[in-house]
This record gives sequence, structure tokens and C-alpha cells, in this order.
Amino acid sequence: MKIIDIIQNAIRDRKCRFAFELLPPLKGDNIDTIFRTIERLQPFDPAYINVTYHREDVKYIERPDGLLEKHITNRRPGTVAISAAIMARYGIEVVPHLICGGFSSYETEEALIDLNFLGIHNVLALRGDTLKGEHSFKPVPNGHAHAVELVRQIIRMNEGLYMDSEAEQITPTDFCIGVAGYPEKHSEAANPDIDIEFLKQKVDAGADYIVTQMFFDNRKFFDFADRCLAAGIRVPIIPGLKPMTTKNQISMLPQIFHVDIPQPLAKAVLACENNAQVRTIGTEWAIGQAEELKKSGVPIIHFYTMGKADNIETIAKQVFGQTSVSGQTN
Ligand code: FAD
Repeated sequence: MKIIDIIQNAIRDRKCRFAFELLPPLKGDNIDTIFRTIERLQPFDPAYINVTYHREDVKYIERPDGLLEKHITNRRPGTVAISAAIMARYGIEVVPHLICGGFSSYETEEALIDLNFLGIHNVLALRGDTLKGEHSFKPVPNGHAHAVELVRQIIRMNEGLYMDSEAEQITPTDFCIGVAGYPEKHSEAANPDIDIEFLKQKVDAGADYIVTQMFFDNRKFFDFADRCLAAGIRVPIIPGLKPMTTKNQISMLPQIFHVDIPQPLAKAVLACENNAQVRTIGTEWAIGQAEELKKSGVPIIHFYTMGKADNIETIAKQVFGQTSVSGQTN
């Protein structure tokens, strides 16, 4: 099923559901970690599961002669395989993330062909972050510089237009496309208005819905949704929430994701004596956010798990209720 249909059904039924994202396990780790996470959250009827994509890391290792040697590694490969395994095992819709960084258009096309053959018809189209050590995002030769170009390529494939015009048997794909939006502005955007203009370009290019970057103050989301509407963006906007779990996230999250932590949350976290206390505070804060978003009528709330989902289980239990065998929620 397409994610946009799941969203439209939730809107029609006035039933807010949740989705969550999983990270592929670290290289060498087992897929069972992923399965255990899903099995904890399955009783709460997740709408779908996102699987993140991780670009290669660049490491410089000092050689005995003092020169630096460049090493390229990918610590979390396996997005496509994990997505397929989840769908086959649980029958839950999956949304693999696809990024521009490191991919030529030909490689992107191959990844999309793989997804299509695996019966995966949902993707989140992203640019990806700047590679460590680079000042600004650089596409590989014949790659995309912005997510909008990736959206256009996917739409072309949905119209049966592949890169290789000599392909004899043309089967159009049928991908539903999500894109990223930033309630507190993307870090590289000159101002919030231009960021929304670029977001509208992605929607005009064919994106079906938007998922937001995490935010800790719902007013930022409501304001963003209003500004999107004023700019003519009519697709559903799915809010993204990240329950805080460790004290160092107070500075790390603003640094990495360019989001503000509201003063009451920051004060409460700073007063914690250990991370177990932070986890409790962060979970309670996210429950408060989710309850308010649910009341406001959002169809789906997306949770960033960062690999650990016990807090999402607590939130799901409280906000979304357990689904019994008959499909009734408690
Ligand atoms: P874009 O839409 O290309 O925007 C990037 C910047 O360029 C913005 O400042 C925008 O205003 C500007 N811009 C856009 N279009 C144009 C244009 N045509 N001309 C000039 N400027 C333009 N990263 C990963 O590596 N893997 C993941 O799995 C992943 N998952 C994510 C999931 C969500 C829900 C979100 C919100 C982010 C995720 N990211 C992920 C991070 C994302 O890749 C970064 O935030 C990245 O820096 C921007 O991606 P984007 O798709 O928003 O890029």
C-alpha cells in the first residue's frame, strides 16, 4: 500500500497513527535487533516503518611515516535488504530512505529498480548530508545536487522514462514519494521563506507528502504548517518527534539538527542526575507533544528511534493504545 493512502485513510478515519524509523544495524551486527524492536512496537499497530540510509564515512588514519591515509567505510549498510526483510516477515509497509550523496543517477536508477522488483513502492527522497571533511555538499559526477532532482528522476521512472533510452521493455514504476521539511529551517537555507520555496519545488515535482525534522516545541510545527499552506503546499505534513534520551543531547541535537530545545525541557534535563532520568523526562515531553499533535488532527506522527525503541513503546502505549486481535484499540 502507498504511504499516501495510509495517510489519507488516517485522515478519513480521524485516527492518528504512528510510524517509526529504524537504522540498519552497525556492520557485523545482527538483523535480530531490528526484528526485536519491531516486535515490541507491533502491538500498537504502526502505520509503516522507515529505514534510514547511511552514506559512507571518511576516516583519515595516520601512517608510520606521518602521512594520512584516507579510508572509506560504511558502518550501516543494508537499507534495501532490511526493508525487504521487514516487509516479508511482518507485512508492514516500509519506506527506505534514498539519498543523492554518493549516487550517480545510474546507481539511483538501479536502486529504484531493485526496490520495484522487491515490491517496495514507497521511498523517502533526500539529499543526504555533507560528507565529513567537506565544506559543502558535493554530488558525485552525474549525481543529484538537491533532493528535488531525485524526486524528478523517480517521477520520470513512474512515467516509464528510464536513463537508458534503449531499454526495450518499459515498465513504469509506481513509487509514492516522501520528502523532508524543516520547521526550524534547514541549516544551509538563507532564510525560512526560501527553504519553504525549495520545499514547494519538491512537492511540485511530485512528492506526495512531507516528513519533518525533529522539533521539541509544537508551536514551531504549527507555524511551519501554516507557512507551507500559505506558500501553496497542500500535501500532508507528518511531524517528526525524537524523545530525548541522554544529557549530552542538550547540545548535540541543536548542533547536528539545528533545532532549539525549549527552556523547560532544557532545565529539566540539565537537572537530571543520570541518563535514566533524562529518558523519563524526554519520554514524558514527547508524550505531551504527541497528545497535542494528535488533538490537532495530524494523521501520523513519525518517531526517530536512533536505534532504541523502549521509549517509543511507552509513548505508543500511552498515546496510541494497544490493538487487540479484533483490531479495536484499548
Ligand atoms: P534538499 O531538499 O536538497 O535541501 C537541502 C538544502 O538545499 C536546503 O537548505 C534547501 O533550502 C536547499 N535547496 C533545496 N533545493 C534547492 C535548489 N533547487 N537550489 C538551491 N538550494 C536548494 N540523511 C541521511 O543521510 N540519511 C537518512 O536516512 C536521512 N533521513 C532523514 C529523514 C528525515 C525525515 C529528515 C528530515 C532528514 C533526513 N536526513 C537523512 C537528513 C537530510 O539528508 C539532511 O537534512 C540534508 O542536509 C538535506 O536533505 P533534504 O532532502 O532536505 O535536501
